[in-house]
Amino acid sequence: MPEIEYRIPQQRRLVTELPGPRSAALTERRRNAVGAGVASSVPVYAADVDGGIVLDVDGNSLIDLGSGIAVTSVGGSDAAVVKAIQEQAAHFTHTCFMVTPYEGYVAVAEKLAELTPGDHAKRTVLFNSGAEAVENAVKIARVATGRRTVVVFDHAYHGRTNLTMAMTAKNKPYKEGFGPFAADVHRVPASYPFREGLNHDGTEITGVQAAQRAIEQIDKQVGAHNVAAIVIEPIQGEGGFIVPAEGFLPTLVDWAKSNGIVFVADEVQTGIARTGSWFASDAEGIVPDLVTIAKGVAGGMPLAAVTGRAELIDAVHGGGLGGTYGGNPVACAAALATLDRMAELDLCGRARRIEEIAVPRLQALAEEVDVIGEVRGRGAMLAIELVQPGSREPNPQAAAEIAARALAEGVILLTCGTYGNVIRLLPPLVIPDELLVDGLDVLADAVRATAGVLVGAAQ
Ligand SMILES: *Cc1c(COP(=O)(O)O)cnc(C)c1O
Repeated sequence: MPEIEYRIPQQRRLVTELPGPRSAALTERRRNAVGAGVASSVPVYAADVDGGIVLDVDGNSLIDLGSGIAVTSVGGSDAAVVKAIQEQAAHFTHTCFMVTPYEGYVAVAEKLAELTPGDHAKRTVLFNSGAEAVENAVKIARVATGRRTVVVFDHAYHGRTNLTMAMTAKNKPYKEGFGPFAADVHRVPASYPFREGLNHDGTEITGVQAAQRAIEQIDKQVGAHNVAAIVIEPIQGEGGFIVPAEGFLPTLVDWAKSNGIVFVADEVQTGIARTGSWFASDAEGIVPDLVTIAKGVAGGMPLAAVTGRAELIDAVHGGGLGGTYGGNPVACAAALATLDRMAELDLCGRARRIEEIAVPRLQALAEEVDVIGEVRGRGAMLAIELVQPGSREPNPQAAAEIAARALAEGVILLTCGTYGNVIRLLPPLVIPDELLVDGLDVLADAVRATAGVLVGAAQ
């Protein structure tokens, strides 16, 4: 396997306090120019990104454990991806696939047919963002079934457009004040093992039972024959990196199949090697009818896709799907290079290796402190859920404090979760082992300091 070469030294190094003076000055400029509704996780401005390092405008080297929200899995400036982008841009940046088509779009569709679960005949349509892919999966399912209702789950995140806001569970910040929302979206309970109740006899609710609970609700409140699609993230992302109990997803897939319902796996965050296989559905042994793809697929260029059963996608009339920029040629070139690089570097294997390195450390940490309720995730999509000591009460203050402490030491950490109490790890899959370990050590110290403070405060 080829060695990964880095342009920027893969070392955490702070030369100013964070944010440094240049970042602080940019924050000032931004305040007078950029809308306040766009928030940034860290007040540090990027100058250069490579491997697991974000170099900021003040010369600080930060460890990136977020990948721009699971996007730069192949790194932020992989040489082969950059070259592909440059070569394509030197020829043409756009023609619009709906006007003068080009090979790159077709090649990406062929590649995604190869990589997505199942060996049935497949088609692909390309878009610009994850939300757009989800919306179009719903459009396809509605035309293909002649039905209207879309079923989604508690803790779901599907995007920020009108339909995908309706499909997203969490009100603040995603939905607050932005209604009215799209109709015919029905939400049912998910499987969240850490926050699951018990059966009457005290046994744990299994994945199959959790699925049956959702199915019963759909049957009673909607009627299966009215459901066009059931849309679910195989591991819920923004909702808290929630891995459903075993059997939950396969039971839903079987039920959808026997009721003529299109099963859509929203793999925008879980897909493209992130969880240790090309798609999280692979590890669950499920074959979705449609898969939505975005984030990691094009090395940071905006590209998204719906890939799935040919008969469903081809049910849509000519001209019914598309968009000016969808499947932009530069983004397609980036995607082809990204997918090649991922195979060449075995980034699925790297994601599993990241889990092997990180999970034992996080579990040891969870033994040591009383604010970690659970360590969970798969591959390089890992999380710790923070709780009030000795309980399962969500502790969002601890999550925020840990992220702030880690940032002060030069580590970019993202939070998530319905309760805002989850620290999520999404390192670039090309991060060197030593850098990852350094980042995890900083995280561990941030957790210890936070736990210490909390214990003190409670006394
Ligand atoms: C990020 C995300 C989306 C939305 O993608 P955008 O590119 O931000 O529109 C949709 N679904 C899931 C699961 C996501 O994680």
